[in-house]
Amino acid sequence: MELRLENFTKRFGDVTVIENMDLTVNSGEMMALLGPSGCGKSTTLFAICGIHKMNGGALYFGDRDVTTVSAQGRSVGVVFQNYALYPHMTAEQNIGFPLKVQRMPKAEIRREVERLADLVQIGNLLDRRPAELSGGQQQRVALARAMIRKPDVLLLDEPLANLDAKLRLEMRSEIRRIQRETGITAILVTHDQVEAMSMCDRIALMRDGKIVQLDTPEQMYRNPQSQFVAGFLGNPP
Ligand code: ADP
Ligand code: MG
Repeated sequence: MELRLENFTKRFGDVTVIENMDLTVNSGEMMALLGPSGCGKSTTLFAICGIHKMNGGALYFGDRDVTTVSAQGRSVGVVFQNYALYPHMTAEQNIGFPLKVQRMPKAEIRREVERLADLVQIGNLLDRRPAELSGGQQQRVALARAMIRKPDVLLLDEPLANLDAKLRLEMRSEIRRIQRETGITAILVTHDQVEAMSMCDRIALMRDGKIVQLDTPEQMYRNPQSQFVAGFLGNPP
């Protein structure tokens, strides 16, 4: 489903962090929000999932205006860097939790959990608790949990930041595979330009609360429209 931010403004007290941002993510597209620390990536994501109220502008999921809809009323799945799994629950219970809250019958929850476990390839780990899983496996569980209610939009905030280099490589391609297989519209927040270039269809490069260039990875790399863009793409953080 297409996601559209129009004229989005966000302030904390007197400080304007995002000013009049427009962003359209096409249906089935994976968009990177890329930029240095503090440029407003997470703030944008929090507004999209409904954790933060917007101070101005509008947000649409498809034709539906969700600007004033609560976080629970929006169809979003989120995975954060520190989005902790419930430590006392097994992987199966973690993944199924959003459905349990909805009071779905147990047998149906089990079926849905198995469908997601298949997708993220942890079918053999469902009895384990988070402490018995590797970082990559925990992220797979978090992804499955984020997607079990079949959200319209998947939001990922630095999902690989806590993984070691080898796992990060593996999970880059895994997240992309899962996104492609499901066709879900997704936004990946990252400060890592290699991650954005290798995982996403398009990149919105941000600086100081503004999108300074929005392009495909190839276009942005070949044709940076400012020194800032060229510098950011050229220098690993
Ligand atoms: P990024 O995710 O790109 O690193 P953030 O969106 O977290 O950046 O933050 C953007 C700016 O907004 C930063 O200057 C940050 O200090 C500020 N900010 C974020 N959250 C809050 C908050 N709850 N209260 C005040 N300022 C905030
Ligand atoms: Mg952030």
